[in-house]
Parts: sequence; C-alpha cells; structure tokens
Amino acid sequence: MITPHLECEEKFIAIFRKALRTGRFIGGPMVEDFERDFAGFCGTKYCIGVGNGTDALRFALIAAGIKHGELVITVPNTFIATTEAITQAGAVHQFVDINEQTYNMDVEKLREYLEKECHIDTKTGKPIDRRTKKYVSAIIPVHLYGQMADMDPIMELAKRYNLTVIEDACQSHGAEYFSKKENKWRSAGSIGHVSAFSFYPGKNLGAFGEAGAVTTNDEDIAKKIRMLRDHGQSEKYHHDIEGYNGRLDAIQGGVLGIKLKYLAEWNEKRRANAIRYNKLLSGVKGIITPHEPSWSKAVYHLYIIRIQNRDKLQKYLTENRISTGLHYPVPLHLQKAYAGMDYKQGNLQVTEKVSKEILSLPMFPGITETQQEHVVKTINKFVGTMGNNYPLSFPLNLSPPAI
Ligand SMILES: *Cc1c(COP(=O)(O)O)cnc(C)c1O
Repeated sequence: MITPHLECEEKFIAIFRKALRTGRFIGGPMVEDFERDFAGFCGTKYCIGVGNGTDALRFALIAAGIKHGELVITVPNTFIATTEAITQAGAVHQFVDINEQTYNMDVEKLREYLEKECHIDTKTGKPIDRRTKKYVSAIIPVHLYGQMADMDPIMELAKRYNLTVIEDACQSHGAEYFSKKENKWRSAGSIGHVSAFSFYPGKNLGAFGEAGAVTTNDEDIAKKIRMLRDHGQSEKYHHDIEGYNGRLDAIQGGVLGIKLKYLAEWNEKRRANAIRYNKLLSGVKGIITPHEPSWSKAVYHLYIIRIQNRDKLQKYLTENRISTGLHYPVPLHLQKAYAGMDYKQGNLQVTEKVSKEILSLPMFPGITETQQEHVVKTINKFVGTMGNNYPLSFPLNLSPPAI
C-alpha cells in the first residue's frame, strides 16, 4: 500500500534541503506560507503557527484576555491538554457533561449551568458561579474524534453571557458544521473567537514532530499571539510583555504546507472508511456506531464504537493482532491530577458511562476494505462467543450517520 509519506518523499527532502541551504530553521517564509494556506483552508483571516496544540490553546486563552482565577467551561471527555492550557493560563476549568450521541459538549447542560448555577454580576454583566463565586469568562468546546460540537447554540449562549469561545479543533482539521443561523457550512476553527489546532504526527494533519496553530479573525488576538509565541517581542529584543518560547519550526511549516494539499482528500477517505465501517457493523449485535447529525461533516480522526464488554473485546482484538485505542479511559474529573478539585464519581455521568464503553477501531485514510472486513469479522466472532443473551442495553433510536 502506498503511504502519504512515501508519495511525497521527494517534496519533503526538498524542504529539508531548503532549510539546510538557507539556514532558516525557525519561522521565516516556509512558516508564513503555511500560515496563509491554513488560514485559507479554515476560512479565517489569520493563522499563527506555534510549537504544539497545547501552546495554541494556552496562547489563545491568554490573548483572549482570560484572567487569573476565572472559570473556563469545557468537557471532561477530552485529552488533558485542554485543561492543562486552562490552568497554565491561570484560569480554572469548569466541566459540563457531554451529549451521549455525539460525545461532544451537551449544549443543554451548558445552558442549565449558566442559567441555574450562575448569576449575573450587575457591575460587569458577566456570570458568576454561585458556589465558587468565580467569574465565568470562556467556553472551550472540543471537537472530539473529528466531529464539531453544536456551535450555533454555543455561540448564542456565549453572546448572551459575554463569554469568549475558544474552539479546541486539535482533532478536527477540515471538519464542517452547518450553521443554521448563517445558512452555510463553516470549517472547524472559524466559528469561535479564536481556535487551536495540533499537528502532532498522529492528527489528521500531522507534522514530523511537534507543531500547532491558532486561527482567528480578530486582529488584536492575532498580534498578541505572535508576541506570546516569541518571548513577547514586538521587535527583536524589545519585549512588550513576557511571553513564551512557542514558535513553529521552518521544516514543520514546510512539511505541513505539502501535506495540507492532500488533507481534503485524506479526510474524504476517512469519511468513506467510516461509512464502510457503519455498514459492516450494522448487523453486529450490541454495537453502537458513531452518530453524525445532519449539521455535521466529521473527519473521523478516530472511529469510535461502543459496546458493554469493551475491555474483553479489546483484549480479544489484541490477541488477534488488531490494535485499538481508548479515547479516553479515565474522564478528566476523575484523574489523579485533579484529585484536589471537588469532583466526584457520579458528577458527570454521561462521560463516566461512555468512558467504559468506547473503543477506537483502526482508522486512517489508507485502511483497505479487506482490513476493515477483517476487523468487523473478528468483532463478530467475539460477539458470537457471548451467546444469545448478549445484553443489548443501548437506546435503539441511534440512527446511522446521515451522509
Ligand atoms: C492533541 C490534542 C491537544 C494537544 O495537542 P499537542 O500538539 O499534543 O500539544 C489538545 N486537545 C486535543 C483534543 C487533542 O487531541
């Protein structure tokens, strides 16, 4: 099978050669070209290349003016980088649970939190959490597994409550959302006030090492992020603020520019592979396949199924040399790192339930029909060994993706 990296080998070598011969290893034209192209891909005015996705989130929060001790709402079903960035920006995360069908932020729970657990400060017009007395200043919807969160109601609530929206688009390069409000499809990273992308090698668009980017239409935020990534410099050795070392390497910018040309095609392949998995799995008892609402075009960074005996199935697949993943086995609010916060088992029940049932099947653009059939046949064999009394405890109204 031809892999993307072999297909483009000569082009990548030309990038290394260019860096060698110009001696320009950080920033410069290769980074600027990629920033322009990626902004175009997302449909935003600005893109700022940074060191990684965590930098992108942290800088986005700081540049958006999130202050020390303020609350930032996000979900417990995400990679820890989302909450690390919140803490490192000096803020505190406030979890709302996920929707059981999309695995992304439940907008009804977001609404409930803002309406019932907060009151509006008459001086600033900002919500204050009744229990902790902290200001709520931002929302980070995470577009997990390659599917966007339901952005229209999130933006509407943000407007009503004066909140900044920072999209965590680290798993959803090129995913789309149909905005009813605007009557058009919008790309991940173009709806919130500012958005973060990761180009970690395993992502849909991956560098040859660490890389990330911020996208925004806000000129002031873009300027601030350019300073933050480069020690707060407005010009060399003139530091307007204290910043960070969070720049993007020239070689990574060059590599990403080449791969970006293929991203739409690779995403289409992932979508086609997801449809094939859905069909193959439709007859398998006790399996829930991913749900794609009519307003979503997911890019299947991961293909997630749910099953009751998840751990046994994973073990069975491993024994049959099929590698799978768990994204994520421990909800963030139950992680040791957050033991000091007053979250308990039972606080965020949908995430807790789903975390025990999810399984990520092999998914990449070039996976073949034969490989997918082999995965599903093996799952079928496992389900067969469970006998006829296999518990079917899932809601049966889950429709397959409307594609
Ligand atoms: C990968 C990822 C990040 C962090 O990106 P890095 O480049 O690894 O720092 C943040 N959020 C989510 C949801 C991710 O998947």
